[in-house]
Amino acid sequence: MDGGGLKSVAIIGAGITGLTAAFNLNRRGIPVTVYEAGSRVGGVIQSIRESGYLAEFGPNTILETSPKIGQLVRDAGLESRRLDPDPKAEARYVVRYQRPIAMPASPLGFFTTPLFTARAKLAVLREPFVPRRRDGKEESVAEFVARRLGQEFLDHAIDALVAGVYAGDPYKLSVPQAFPKLAQLEAQYGSLIKGQILGARERKKRGEVAKDRAPKFSFDEGLQVLPETLRERLGGAMRLNTTVTRLAQTESGWVLELSERGQETRAEHSAVLYAGTAHKMAELGLETRAELSFRPFSEIRYPPVASVVLGFRREDVVHACDGFGMLIPRVEGFKILGTIFSSSLFPNRAPAGHLTLTSYVGGERYPELASLPPERLFDLTCADLRVILGVRGKPTFQHSVFYPKAIPQYVIGYGRYRQLMADIEAKAPGLFVAGHYRDGISLSDSMVSGCNVADRVEAYCRACMESGTARTT
Ligand SMILES: Cc1cc2nc3c(=O)[nH]c(=O)nc-3n(C[C@H](O)[C@H](O)[C@H](O)COP(=O)(O)OP(=O)(O)OC[C@H]3O[C@@H](n4cnc5c(N)ncnc54)[C@H](O)[C@@H]3O)c2cc1C
Repeated sequence: MDGGGLKSVAIIGAGITGLTAAFNLNRRGIPVTVYEAGSRVGGVIQSIRESGYLAEFGPNTILETSPKIGQLVRDAGLESRRLDPDPKAEARYVVRYQRPIAMPASPLGFFTTPLFTARAKLAVLREPFVPRRRDGKEESVAEFVARRLGQEFLDHAIDALVAGVYAGDPYKLSVPQAFPKLAQLEAQYGSLIKGQILGARERKKRGEVAKDRAPKFSFDEGLQVLPETLRERLGGAMRLNTTVTRLAQTESGWVLELSERGQETRAEHSAVLYAGTAHKMAELGLETRAELSFRPFSEIRYPPVASVVLGFRREDVVHACDGFGMLIPRVEGFKILGTIFSSSLFPNRAPAGHLTLTSYVGGERYPELASLPPERLFDLTCADLRVILGVRGKPTFQHSVFYPKAIPQYVIGYGRYRQLMADIEAKAPGLFVAGHYRDGISLSDSMVSGCNVADRVEAYCRACMESGTARTT
């Protein structure tokens, strides 16, 4: 397709979803214009190099859960800059009895781990015999896990996992919305354990990898390399410091109202992809022939999170920090939600003889802590790390970033927002919605979302070009 006659597709948001979609469309000859409210690309991805440290404040790794992810990296010409983690850094710790305990990596390890009592282990062994729920009730993660695996497993493992992944509360998140694979395993196999074993064969057939098995990776200069490279590949198609404030459907496409460095302008496009955030989408004016509104998306909750990156001299930390990181359940009484052992994971994250620890504060557990001034965040993080990892001395590097609205919570009833997004796409031809609030909150989910929406946009543009409705003149 030469794109002749087609006005460019407007892509709103230069986070990883929007950039992935823009890059894929551009490669297929579909003209795009990317509008980004901020002054940089990448959205929540933020890597900085300073004083010999490489700090990641948003996501730390990409999970290669789909072949589309590796393909995007190759297409962007980034294969040689891809950085796989140190294979020795596989261990994941969960804090119990105030110290990090390695999560069992095998069935034998599960029986011998001090992480769970004999009673909790028995409850897990009984899981295949727990009847599946048949009344159709949408359960919270907490209800589901307590029913199938017991309260101790919920309090000492899943609560920590939910804080680590969603910065969320297991009593609020919905199983089918936030962890759909768990709901499917129960529905299909009647048991998580049976489903885990039998489902592996089916995933292999589809070329998919389970999240707990998927290879992780980053890039030599951190994850920011990916959005910056995609931006370079897009050339002049990028408009930074430009907020889209309103969308109006016309006979031949869409008119966008823009606010660019204080100047109000307009632009015409054949199609629009909204790849921003749900809370910003709710502020966007929408005028369509069908009666549709973005307003309900303001109800989607994004709790605040602060990322705190601290560097220490190696000899000032007693624990080996020899793994991916540690998750901290609420019942342990610490303020931080968890910590990634960043410099154990990748080789170039700290100067020789030093290490980097990336901790998260806030989320649904303690939202009021996330907005504390940096000095107080450093102090409370150091206080927790002192107890858990035996950190002594002062940090040699400290930096924090506050995300006032970090991660959307897929709570009970979230399906109605997803249905509304599907309705918007169906009833307003040429308007597409994708990203972390629709297709899964992880970086890999967002990349796959960007790839899939690019296919939908391309199909729409081709159909328009064939019927002649998207011609400029
Ligand atoms: C602190 C933190 C840690 C995380 N850790 C991990 C991790 O370790 N692993 C993992 O897989 N995932 C992690 N995630 C989640 C993952 O990073 C995100 O889900 C993903 O990056 C979202 O990408 P996105 O493009 O959909 O949205 P965003 O990155 O939010 O980008 C949206 C962009 O749209 C722009 N925008 C919005 N509205 C408008 C408008 N009207 N006009 C113009 N521009 C607009 C915004 O300015 C923004 O730049 C983390 C997230 C956070 C916040």
